[in-house]
Amino acid sequence: MISESLKKPLACWRGKERYDDGIVECLTIIFESGGCSWARCRMCSYRHERYRAQSCEELAAHLNAQLAWVRSQFNLDEFPMIKIFTSGSFFDPAEVPLTFQKEVALAFRGKIVIAESRPEYITPDTIGHFLSELNDGTHATPLYCAIGLETTNDIIREKCINKGFTYADFKQAVTVAHTAGAGVKAYLLFKPPFLTEAEAVTDTRSSLADLAGTVEMVSMNPCTVQRRTELELYWKQGDYRPPYLWSVLSLLKDAPMHVTCDPLGGGQQRGPHNCGKCDYDITKGIRDYSISADRDLIGALLEIVCTCKNEWEYVLDRERPYCMPLTR
Ligand code: SF4
Ligand SMILES: [Zn+2]
Repeated sequence: MISESLKKPLACWRGKERYDDGIVECLTIIFESGGCSWARCRMCSYRHERYRAQSCEELAAHLNAQLAWVRSQFNLDEFPMIKIFTSGSFFDPAEVPLTFQKEVALAFRGKIVIAESRPEYITPDTIGHFLSELNDGTHATPLYCAIGLETTNDIIREKCINKGFTYADFKQAVTVAHTAGAGVKAYLLFKPPFLTEAEAVTDTRSSLADLAGTVEMVSMNPCTVQRRTELELYWKQGDYRPPYLWSVLSLLKDAPMHVTCDPLGGGQQRGPHNCGKCDYDITKGIRDYSISADRDLIGALLEIVCTCKNEWEYVLDRERPYCMPLTR
């Protein structure tokens, strides 16, 4: 029987991750936290996921119950790597109390932890304290701060996403993380709203070039249409189409570093998709590539013969942004 002090997190699953030219077992946990303090990005529905606690103590107890559930369900010895997400930022003390951050560091001491956070919460104090509990000397870099940078272009991040921080903020967080002895994983969002397919490809291509040599890991998220978001409104009006999987392949093929990619909703209308016939093989291939880093696989996938490739090329060539009037 599950006791009352155990609470299932929003999600928790085992998988494999590429790390240091090898493959490791990884446990991914999505904690139900106090919720994102920003909560304004146009494409994000996670911001609706929040536990409304009356006090910091109640929130910490709620989170501790989830950690206890994880311990009751999994043998942690099997996982050298733990990925932690919340519905916002793990290092935001208003969302995840410092006492619980410490509990997590102690629970996963000696492992590699990848924890997601906005850059403003990556401070010398927070990262230093977390690392001092987590690090037992097993790994040279026990912590990676995962930051949803989305793009290195400030205008696109502000206008198309409404992310609320700048590339300079991100770079400052990278410096703080590196100085403290942590690594950085950058997430890029491929094709936010208001961009044509070609503009989106150009944006992600230049973001990848900018990031080369500055962070330890890069992951690309092809945009999906989540429920109860501003993006969903545009999509329902026919003003937004998620990216083509062909575009994802072309970006992975030319990237200056290994880029991981899990095309959520791949092949579905709300997710990155082609025509419906070639989607399954390409989505699976992209997931395999994330683990294997085999560029030849990406090359082979780009050679798949499907009539929708002509459509994609036509869209890249002919799609134009529709202009808003500058004056009234
Ligand atoms: S994308 Fe991240 S920062 Fe933006 S609203 Fe969602 S959880 Fe908050
Ligand atoms: Zn096709």
